[in-house]
Amino acid sequence: MAKRKSMSSKMAQRKKPAPKLETTFSCPFCNHPGGVSCTIDLKLFVATAVCYVCQEVYHTTAHYLTEPVDVYHDWIDACEMANQGVELQALDYQKPQRRVGSDDDDNDA
Ligand SMILES: [Zn+2]
Repeated sequence: MAKRKSMSSKMAQRKKPAPKLETTFSCPFCNHPGGVSCTIDLKLFVATAVCYVCQEVYHTTAHYLTEPVDVYHDWIDACEMANQGVELQALDYQKPQRRVGSDDDDNDA
């Protein structure tokens, strides 16, 4: 007769959102949220990310495992690489090393 509560002992089953892959992203150029859409052409093995706001386009190679988010990240990487040359010059007057709000380790006793 020892009926234990078994309801809460279930492993928490998280409802996963519908497995819809994101295909729209924020544009790295104009920062428009959802401005970038990625398409993958597995016939040509070409992936394209294009921003409908500022018309920036990025092409990269695709394969069967390529997902839109990969295309987008490739684009971001490419942008960062391109920006590094610029940032190196900008470092002289602007240091991006800023502490972002951490409240601990505050020795203000
Ligand atoms: Zn854009």
